[in-house]
Amino acid sequence: MAVHVLDAMAREGFEELVALHDRRSGLRGFLGIHDTSRGPAFGGIRRFPYRNEKSALIDCLRLSRAMSRKCALADLPGGGAKLVVLDHPGLDLAEAYRHIGRVVERQAGRYFAGPDVGTGWRELSYVAEETDRVTRPGDEGPGDLAGATAAGVFAAIAAALRHLHGSESWEERTFVVQGLGSVGWRLAARLRGLGARVLAADLEEEPCERAHEELGVEILASGTELDTACDVFCPCAMGGLLHDLSIQRLQARIVCGAANNPLARTHHAMQLFERGILYVPDFVVSAGAVIRGAEFHLTGRPTPLEEIEARIGATVRDVLERAAAKERSPYVIAQHEADLRILRSRARADAT
Ligand code: NAD
Repeated sequence: MAVHVLDAMAREGFEELVALHDRRSGLRGFLGIHDTSRGPAFGGIRRFPYRNEKSALIDCLRLSRAMSRKCALADLPGGGAKLVVLDHPGLDLAEAYRHIGRVVERQAGRYFAGPDVGTGWRELSYVAEETDRVTRPGDEGPGDLAGATAAGVFAAIAAALRHLHGSESWEERTFVVQGLGSVGWRLAARLRGLGARVLAADLEEEPCERAHEELGVEILASGTELDTACDVFCPCAMGGLLHDLSIQRLQARIVCGAANNPLARTHHAMQLFERGILYVPDFVVSAGAVIRGAEFHLTGRPTPLEEIEARIGATVRDVLERAAAKERSPYVIAQHEADLRILRSRARADAT
């Protein structure tokens, strides 16, 4: 494998990487713990048919670092982690997730697991058979996490529109939503409720048909989202979609959505900036679920959605204002602020 794992961990300041292999269930995966200097690490379990081990590992490292930045900018007393599972047809789901539960338990409170792509309540219930350090459904848990994420994305979009135009003027705006899953659906519904024009695409037909019938969303052919003129492009599917070629096609004035790491590489934030496209940093926008999940684990209180909106809206406003004053990309400003907070907490932790 041509990834120099230890070098990458040292460069990005990782604390721990656990390689997972379970003969009985067919589980193969990685748990990356980026930082616990602010408190325990939080991060979902992603199950995805990765092309190979290397792409799973890179995703694990990038996602866990992004979770640390998310926690730091949301002022949470916690850090970032991610557990990725290489999905394959022979995987015994129940056994694999129970094994993950034992891995989480062995971390003894350094890592709290939650949902992510490919891991919903069913999978989490297997994890919960082995550990309490996992997000639970119903009255035992923090409630609707995708709703918390969608609320944060909505607040971030409102702040970005006000920053650029002085008002949201929802009825005059056009939004393109990529991905009509848990978050994208809720976001599309909210925007339609305010009278906005919403165009959307999903790889699956069923959510497209339903969104058209129930919400009045106009459906785009999958793959044409970036070429469609709009005020705001909302990536709510997978990461890595914004790269050298796709950025040139983008017809939006603002990019603001739930997807983690939509930029293929950090320098793509500069390309968006140079094209005059306002990119609202993903690790600020999509913090709703970790705010709610982490605060529930730490205090037993599910953070109200209005509070999540107010906090994420205020952070976005602050980042955009500072970026405008310095004529820099908001991504660079947010990343710098997050990394500074993490470095300070590491210095404090090292001094004690
Ligand atoms: P989800 O799995 O419920 O929905 C994703 C949707 O995107 C699916 O309907 C899928 O068919 C569609 N999709 C996948 N690839 C696509 C493509 N190339 N074009 C169009 N559609 C495509 O996921 P979700 O929970 O809604 O999360 C969406 C994104 O937001 C993910 O990247 C996730 O990591 C991120 N995120 C989610 C949360 C949360 O609380 N759910 C929190 C933070 C970040």
